[in-house]
Formats: sequence, structure tokens, C-alpha cells
Amino acid sequence: MQIAQNSVVAFHYTLTNDAGEVLDSSEGREPLTYLHGSGNIIPGLEKELEGHESGEKLQVTVTPAEGYGETQPALVQEVPRDAFQGVEEVEPGMQFQAQTQGGPLMVTVTKVEGDTVTVDGNHPLAGQTLNFDVEISSVREASQEEMEHGHVHGEGGVQH
Ligand code: ZN
Repeated sequence: MQIAQNSVVAFHYTLTNDAGEVLDSSEGREPLTYLHGSGNIIPGLEKELEGHESGEKLQVTVTPAEGYGETQPALVQEVPRDAFQGVEEVEPGMQFQAQTQGGPLMVTVTKVEGDTVTVDGNHPLAGQTLNFDVEISSVREASQEEMEHGHVHGEGGVQH
């Protein structure tokens, strides 16, 4: 069957950036499973999968606007070292959950200079063009309950 609204789709993928570096892959793992049309995956990929069938292989290029968004300079901030109480060593690459006016936000430390720590709240893949190599493993219809919940149950989905 073809992928359409309320299809439960399982697919394998390899994600590379424009430099050809592999950023993520499902190789050696279970395929990624999602409920089509519910915003479970990034919009650009969801849109391109529509109408395709189990067993198909396709290449999808997703722009930042339809992926993890453009890089927002306002999400890069300098905070005092004191803000990281209880953390012995603050180093670039560390991730912390920050409380913001818009709710919790995952930030990554990008620079430590003396008592000043620079953190970046952009998604690590923001601003990047994403190239997906996709192989569709299976397509089935969602159950009534899955449609109501807006996510997949059982294998590859939410267990509850
Ligand atoms: Zn549920």
C-alpha cells in the first residue's frame, strides 16, 4: 500500500550533510517507525515519502526550512560559569537542559572562556541541508487508537 495520511511507516535511512558526512543512520538498528501525517518526523521528509510503497528506495533532500529550521543567532548566548553549579568541568560539546520562557530547551556548550560559557540552543542540525537515503521497510494502516494518540503503538512505537 502507498504511504498516505494515517499510514504507519517503517523505514531505514542514512542521513548525510552536503559535505557527504554521515550524521545519522538506522543501519544495524530497527527501522524508524512513524505515523504519517502527524508531524512525527521532519516536514520535508514526511512530504516526500507520501505516495511511496514498501520496498522502495529513494533519495530525499530537505532544506533547513523543512528540516530543523534555520540557525537562529538569538539562541546563542553567553552565560556566567556560575550558572552551571554542581558541574565540575564545563566543556564544549556538553549538553544541558535550560529553562527558558518558551519552556525547556536543550543547549550545547560551544565555547568556554574564563568565566564565560557560550551555549547554543539551536538544534544541532539547524541550518543544514539534509540528504536522506531511505528504504521503506513496511507500510500498514494505523489503528483507531494510534490515530487518536497521534503516534505508533507496538513495535517501533510507544509501549503503553
Ligand atoms: Zn498512544
